[in-house]
Order: sequence, then C-alpha cells, then structure tokens
Amino acid sequence: SSVWADVPLGPPDAILGITEAFKKDKNPKRINLGVGAYRDDAGKPFILESVKKAERQMIEEGLDHEYAPISGFPAFTEASAKLALGDNSPAVAGGLNATVQGISGTGSLRIGGDFLKRFYTKSHEIYFPTPTWGNHTPIFKDAGLTIKPYRYYDPKTCGFDFNGALEDISKIPEGSIILLHACAHNPTGVDPQPEQWKEISKVVKKRKLYPFFDVAYQGFGSGCIDKDAFGLRHFIADGHTLCLAQSYAKNMGLYGERVGAFTIVCSDKKEQERVMSQLKILIRPIYSNPPIHGAHIVAKVLNQPDLRSIWLKEVKQMADRIITMRTRLRDGLKKEGSSHNWQHITDQIGMFCFTGLKPPQVERLTNEFSVYLTKDGRISVAAWLFSEKTRGIVIASSSSS
Ligand code: PLP
Repeated sequence: SSVWADVPLGPPDAILGITEAFKKDKNPKRINLGVGAYRDDAGKPFILESVKKAERQMIEEGLDHEYAPISGFPAFTEASAKLALGDNSPAVAGGLNATVQGISGTGSLRIGGDFLKRFYTKSHEIYFPTPTWGNHTPIFKDAGLTIKPYRYYDPKTCGFDFNGALEDISKIPEGSIILLHACAHNPTGVDPQPEQWKEISKVVKKRKLYPFFDVAYQGFGSGCIDKDAFGLRHFIADGHTLCLAQSYAKNMGLYGERVGAFTIVCSDKKEQERVMSQLKILIRPIYSNPPIHGAHIVAKVLNQPDLRSIWLKEVKQMADRIITMRTRLRDGLKKEGSSHNWQHITDQIGMFCFTGLKPPQVERLTNEFSVYLTKDGRISVAAWLFSEKTRGIVIASSSSS
C-alpha cells in the first residue's frame, strides 16, 4: 500500500475553515464574519496611509533583498520593544530586553513556547484564559507544553469573571506559566480594568508564575497604544520578569506580511546576552532569518515621527470605527425588535464581538441565512456595515478572506 495510506483526514481549521465553507456557498447574500481582518466601509481590506508612505519610501530608496540578521533588523526590534514596554521603559533603556523579530504573532508565540520548553525548568504547564484564541492550544502543545485553564469569561454576564479568574490563578501551582492577553481579548473582547490588572499582578506574583503576554492588538482596543499596554507595563513596574509576543497584523494591517516580535525581559545585561544567544540558536534551524519587507515598513512607521503620527491617528480611526459599529449593531438589533439584552456588544472591545449565540443558533444562521461565524458565536465587528437603507443588518463583507 501507499506510504501515506495511514494518514487520517484532519478537520479543517476552526477559524480559517469557515472561510473555506463561505467560499463554497452560492448564496449571493452570504456573509463572512469569521475572519479577524479589518474592513473599510466598502467591505474591502484597508491599507494604512502610513504603511503606503513607508512602502513608497522603500521603493525610492531602492532597498535591496539581502538577508536580515537571525534576530531581525535592530531598528525594528528596538522600536517594537519600545512600543510595547513604553518609550521611557527602564528595561529597554537598560538593554534588558532580548527581542527578536518573529513570523507575526503566531510565530512569535511559537518561539516563546519553544524557548520555554527548552530553558524554563520550573514548569512546562501553561495556563490559558477560558476561552482563548483557538490557535494558542496547538502552538503551545506543539512546543511541548501542557495546557491548563483558568476562568476568564462569564457566560452569564458576557463579561470578565474577575473573581473566578483570581480564585483560579491563586491555585495555580508555583512556577507555572500564565498566558495573558494584553488587550482586546480574543475571542471575548473582554478585558480587565486597570484596577483589576493590579490585583491580577499581585496574585500572579504571589504564586511566582511566569507571565507570557500576547500583544496582538495594541492600539486596536481603545485606540491608544499606551492605554492598551497598561496591564503589561504594570506587570513590569510591579517587578515581574516576563515575556511577550507582538503582532503588527491588526494594528498596521500587515496581516500577510507576517511581522511580529518576541521579547524576554531579563534581570540583567549578562542574562540578556545569554538569552539572546539562545533565541538565535533556536531560530536559525527553523527559518534562519525573518522576512524583511514588513519589518522595514514597521521600522519606518514607528521610527519616523511624521509616519508615526499618521499611524497613531489611523489606529485610533480603526478602533473608533469598530466602537461605532458596535453601537450600530446593538441599536440595529433593538430596532429590529430584539428584546434580548445586547449591552455586552458595546461593553466588549477590539476586533470581535462574543455574541453569546449558542452553537445551534450559529448553525441556523449559517445554514439558513449564509451568515458565517465561529461556532462559539464570535463575530468580526469590522465585517459589519449597518445599512439604514435596507433597514436590516446588511454586511459589506467582501468575498475574499
Ligand atoms: N494572538 C491572538 C490573541 C490573536 O487573535 C491573533 C490573531 O488572530 C494572533 C495572536 C496572531 O496573529 P498573527 O499570527 O496573524 O499575527
């Protein structure tokens, strides 16, 4: 028999599989709310002006296609660390951050998972909020870590289960790793308030846990890059040593460029050097060195004051538009006669709305109305466009993914 006769057929990806099903649907009114990519008013992918300007400069300057260093471009990695940790971060000023460029958020998380598996000797258990982004589980499982849950979302209130989270975190075995979404939690859109972050930090410290921050939406939640970094920066100010994975997919609209960063904040300069050397040793046999195009764009946008100020406005515009769409969706549902409490639509932030729809309702929406969303009831808010004209909820979602 053939060599691969025993390879079983795997299931489609829980999120990207929805787009596959959507593309097969012949209904002209089909709608794809599954994928987390920002859309403009016409339902088309949005290219930021700051990004366009950076790319034009790159062409004018005649940038070559040479290899980047294993750890990525220094202008990119330094700017990334500052973006997350703050312009005046003592850790960055003291050179304590071991930062490498990663293949967007996913690749950066994976570098982190691999590094922890190789060098973090206290525990190989990582605790995730329930629920979390679907890809977290295979990323860290494939890195060889064991996944454990802590309570996060309260289905009763469609909000943050603060007490449940604190209670669970306070029982996590000492030394374990804890994954935290820095802002705009995916899929729930539910974030801790600043005072709650402070409490979480205390408990995490008491249990001597190692925090791993996933920073996939900085600026996209509130519209302000500093506000969205509050939890992360508070943890550092509170004395935690930690690591973080960043993505520029959403906040610069660079989805397909695969540009991100992974940082370990170290205790001293010597440690930083040792950690950095091992990150490079880990990366070299996987992809040798990272792609350059997106990193050049990000470095220009973050480091050039004129481009940076345009970008900051654009991030705010995107976040504000999502907030507006939440209100319109909520008002629209009310206008259409729904008596259900949809308050959580506007309470939640970020790219997604965790609607609270149950799997049979989601199934019905898809089967009867060709509305595609993830089974957990998550919809991409940016994919909605409320049309006054048609007096219904009409979507301007392009047929692309
Ligand atoms: N982390 C979270 C929570 C996400 O929602 C995403 C994207 O959806 C990512 C990380 C990584 O995305 P990417 O690899 O496209 O940067």
